Amino acid sequence: MIIAVDGPAASGKGTLARRLAERYNLAYLDTGSLYRAVALAVLQSGAEPSDPKAALKAAEALDLTTIDAPAIRGDDVARGASIVAAMAPVRLAIKDVQRHFAQAPPGSKPGAVLDGRDIGTVICPDADAKIFVDADVNVRARRRYLELKTRKSGGASPNEAEVLADLIERDARDRGRAISPLQPAEDALLLDTSNLSIEAAFQAACDLVDQATV
Ligand code: C5P
Repeated sequence: MIIAVDGPAASGKGTLARRLAERYNLAYLDTGSLYRAVALAVLQSGAEPSDPKAALKAAEALDLTTIDAPAIRGDDVARGASIVAAMAPVRLAIKDVQRHFAQAPPGSKPGAVLDGRDIGTVICPDADAKIFVDADVNVRARRRYLELKTRKSGGASPNEAEVLADLIERDARDRGRAISPLQPAEDALLLDTSNLSIEAAFQAACDLVDQATV
């Protein structure tokens, strides 16, 4: 069983995808972490994410063991990820890793949940269930701001207006790019989490999966 969960940043898709994987005993892959790891490697090499050669080199050398590093969670890395993710050669270089994960999930699991931007449209077009998670951009900015505030240990406090501006910029780049733009697959089921608690959103996501897989 393959479940594709797509949606914009801070829509709640990561939390839902992780919990769906637990619920249905499936492997879980956060595909955004791959683009983040590429961006982090580019930044660490001293290059700019907008440098296509540096981005491709990092994508080809992607080391899956770095994708859990807390360093990929920063907003500068997120911004860099959305820049390298707009490059066709970068997407191509990490496509097989994602397809392989879906086709041969680790841990002998009977399937996988992948979340990202193009899972239902490009990576797993034949997924058994496709959910497109969305939420009002102001709600998403508020969630992201609270998350950053909780995580922050020292340094400047996050600024909610800047978080909102960052999200708007990233959404525009993800939705507007020529290759694999963020958009619901034609057969995706839509889930708007703007007014839902995590628990209610999870229940709604389970209902959608059950509806798609009966
Ligand atoms: O999901 P997350 O916010 O961690 O993703 C970081 C960036 O990676 C996104 O803004 C997007 O540009 C890119 N991405 C993508 N395709 C995916 C997953 C993430 O283009 N499947």
